[in-house]
Parts: sequence; structure tokens; C-alpha cells
Amino acid sequence: MAAVLAGSGTRFLLYPQAPVTPGYDRPELVWISNPAGSVAPGPADHRMYAVDPLHSKPPYEYPYLPPYRGPVHPPAQPGPDGNFDHIPVHDRAFLSAHLFGSVARVLDIWEGYVGHHIPWHFAGSLQRLELIPLIEWDNAQSGFGYLEFGHDTSAAGVRYPYCLNFDVIAHEVGHALLFSEIGLPPAGRNPGPDFTAYHEGVSDLCSLMGLLHFDTAMDRILRRGSGNLLVMNEMNQFAEQADERQVRIVGNSRRMSDVGLEAHDRSRPFTGAFFDALVEIYHDTVVARGIVDLPPRSIIDARDIDDDLARTFADAFSRNYELKHFALKAVLADARDLMGTALARSWPLLDAGEVTFVRAGYAICDVLQEMGRGDAAETMEACLAWRGIVRSPGNARPGTAWGRQAAWI
Ligand SMILES: [Zn+2]
Repeated sequence: MAAVLAGSGTRFLLYPQAPVTPGYDRPELVWISNPAGSVAPGPADHRMYAVDPLHSKPPYEYPYLPPYRGPVHPPAQPGPDGNFDHIPVHDRAFLSAHLFGSVARVLDIWEGYVGHHIPWHFAGSLQRLELIPLIEWDNAQSGFGYLEFGHDTSAAGVRYPYCLNFDVIAHEVGHALLFSEIGLPPAGRNPGPDFTAYHEGVSDLCSLMGLLHFDTAMDRILRRGSGNLLVMNEMNQFAEQADERQVRIVGNSRRMSDVGLEAHDRSRPFTGAFFDALVEIYHDTVVARGIVDLPPRSIIDARDIDDDLARTFADAFSRNYELKHFALKAVLADARDLMGTALARSWPLLDAGEVTFVRAGYAICDVLQEMGRGDAAETMEACLAWRGIVRSPGNARPGTAWGRQAAWI
């Protein structure tokens, strides 16, 4: 019996959003893949450990690097069953437990999508990732052998630790994943403006995908629009007012002609295109499965919906919504996993020295095509085209590699 339970993983309590976010003030019970009893006090395991400095330390900056050797707060202790979900949320040790559990959760998700274990990019020098939950700093960073977190400050001057913000943690893990999976450009080679922007964009998408693995978030996002996610894309202001920061970021309307060279700004059209494709694939599947009675795909274009059609959509989704909620949730999970898998499996197709949004976008299309989802690849290409990342959709013919077209832009 004990072995069966151990195989279920280890329990943690995680906030899907910063706990000050409306509707997200309670943590959700999450299982990480480590067998129960295998996570040591810290928490710590074979690939990472949390360490909480007793006194604040300066942020790491080369050549000042892990391991941290100063005095520390007592480590988070597992309960008698090996789980960490018994620690009160206001206990100092909860910070370390939340950080460790969040990082482990994000790794579980992306290793599942990639289909293999992801070694740390610094594995040749350091064995484990150091997790620092809280220092006196208004920022967070992912670096060589560490993730460390400071705090946010509200308009009223109240401080909130970033290590309780899954959004920020998942974003930083996203950077670490890309360092492992794509690496760095060769020394002396300027990778161009898209490399760092791609890093920021994909890190935001890691955060979005992580959010969409929480029941709380799936339920709230779906119920808010009665399952009609078209209200969350660039068509209106809805996304910009969403409670979830990830949704506000990806639900943007920016095209490449609207952005400059600053990495976060430049990343928006790509993340927006990815989110549009996710939403469109969700809607196509909803219609294909007959869950909602809507016009056929031929007249559904997420970027060209007039008020009448928008009302038709809203009415169709909201009619008997409660009878459809779980069916819609299953479709959203499918669309999420399709796009997450395509993104993760596009990484080996990219060369760190030559990352552009065109190549990155077509690499996702390539993977979707290889997965037998040419329909989704066409949707993604159309979304990339609307954002001005690729020239026009429809140039790729079934069976051809989308990625090869990258050469002409
Ligand atoms: Zn970043």
C-alpha cells in the first residue's frame, strides 16, 4: 500500500496566481511526480534544493554564484507521509515549499511535453539548481545554477513575495528550460533581437500553460465567458482586464509593426499568435465535437468577427452552459496539450545562433504537421501571418515542411 501511495507523487499547496489576485486567494492541492517520501527537508531532491537566507543577500551576479553558504531559516519539513501540504501558508517555510513545488510542477508539465528528462544547462558545473525564495529585491531572476526571487510592491506599499507567484516562477523556469533545450548562441555571435524576445515570449507561454494546468484557473477562465474564449483574444479589451496576468500578456493585439527591439515588447506578437491559435483550435474542436451549436469553420475567423457573429457565439456558448462545462474543459485541456507539445518539440528544431520568430513559428507548424494536425498547423500559420511574423498563410502545402519557408523572410 505504501508503495502504491508513494507512486502517486508528493503533495504541495500552490497558488495558481499571486494570492492577492481576485479568486485566487486559496492554494490548490497539487501532486508533483517525486514519489512520496523522496523529497528531503528544504525541500530538496536530486536536481534542486530550496535554501532561505536568514538575512537578505545581494542578488547573484557573476562571479558571485551558488551555492549560498550563509545562515539560513529552518528548512521546510515534510509531514510524516512525505508530503508538504501541511505547512501553514503564513509559515516562513511555506515560501520554500511553494517555490520548490511550483518549479517541480512546471518541470513535470514540460518534461511531459518534450517527452524526456530535461537536464540543467549548467549540469557540467553544478549538480543541482538552487532556489532562493526571498531576498530584499524588487525582481526575480533565472541564472547559472539558481532561481532567486524578491518581492513585488502594491500601489498601497504592501510587499508580496514573488515566490508565492506561480506566474513569475513559471516564467523563470521557462528561461531555464530554453537554456537547456536550445542553449546559447555561439560565443562572439550576435543572435539578433528575436533571440532574447523569443526567450521572454516562451517563458510567458510556459507560465500560461502552467496556469492552465490548475483546475481553479481552467474553471474560472471558462466560466467567466461561458466557455467562449474568443472574447479573450485580440478582438476586444476583455483579455487586458483579465485577472490572470498571463492572459493579459498573451491576449494582446500587437503586430510586429507595433513593436520595437526591447525584448518583452518584441515578444508580444509571437505570444499573441500562439494564444490566438490555441483559442481557435479550442473553438474548432468545440464545434467539431458538437458541444456548442455554431456556424461551420468556413465563417469563423477569430480576427474578423462582427458584432452579430459575436452575439451568436456568446448566445450559443451561454445556452445551458452548466451542462457543457466539463466537456468544454476537456477540449481546452486537449488544445492546451496539443500546443504545449508542439512548442516543446519545436525547440530541437531551432539553432540558438539563428532564432527568429519566423523560424520559431514555422517550427511549431512543422511539429503540428508531423503530429498529424495539419489543420492546427494552418491555424497557427494564419495567426502568425495576422501578426506580421510571416508574410501570408496558405503557402505551405500538405506534406511540406513549414520550416523550410523560413528562408524567404
Ligand atoms: Zn524573462
